[in-house]
Amino acid sequence: MQPLLITIDGPAGAGKTTVSRSLAKRLGYRYIDTGALYRGVAFEAKSKGLSHDDDVGLENLCMSLDLKFVFAEEGSRLFSNNKDITDQIRNSEISMLASAVSARPVVRRYLLDLQRNMGNGKGVVFEGRDMGTVVFPSADIKFFLDASCKTRALRRYKELSSKTSLTIDEIEQDINQRDENDRTRSLAPLKPADDAIIVDSTYLSADEVVELMLSHIGKCMC
Ligand code: C5P
Repeated sequence: MQPLLITIDGPAGAGKTTVSRSLAKRLGYRYIDTGALYRGVAFEAKSKGLSHDDDVGLENLCMSLDLKFVFAEEGSRLFSNNKDITDQIRNSEISMLASAVSARPVVRRYLLDLQRNMGNGKGVVFEGRDMGTVVFPSADIKFFLDASCKTRALRRYKELSSKTSLTIDEIEQDINQRDENDRTRSLAPLKPADDAIIVDSTYLSADEVVELMLSHIGKCMC
């Protein structure tokens, strides 16, 4: 089978990261978590004391940024200007700030080119919010992974439990707020591409979702 470019979009906590990583492994593909790039911009903006709506400051920041993934067996690491920031971008403050800066056109423009360059050569699974609609409208296969709000909050709680003092209800509020921001922004809002395969993972394990995706990939390629 020719190497494919596969996109997986969906709201926060739907299980995109676990599923994308595992699908990429099964196919022998690279896996790119584009949310980490938005988090990287948010992290650097915070370090420089920039406000999320300071477009001039954000544009200057993006022009001086060098974000890249380094791929390793245990998962990819995100480097910003040669500094490993992987562990510093996973907290609720950076989540909310990433959602806020992701609505700014200067940030999306900068990351659009970066993401497209990472897709050269195919054989890659891209995870995000607008992969199938904006960044790779001609992707070979597009998935939109969803789950109920309660399920997504519970999954995020389990994932963060040792690293956060937030309750499940607070996490649910956070992801609802982020989804609302992501769905209603004017630029590249979160929504399924017209030709996306919708997968509801509310009652499915990550392994079951991956098997389902593999069966769609097999059918689409016949
Ligand atoms: O996927 P993750 O939760 O790490 O993404 C953080 C934030 O980055 C999202 O809430 C969303 O606002 C933004 N994002 C985006 N487009 C993408 C990936 C992430 O706007 N392709």
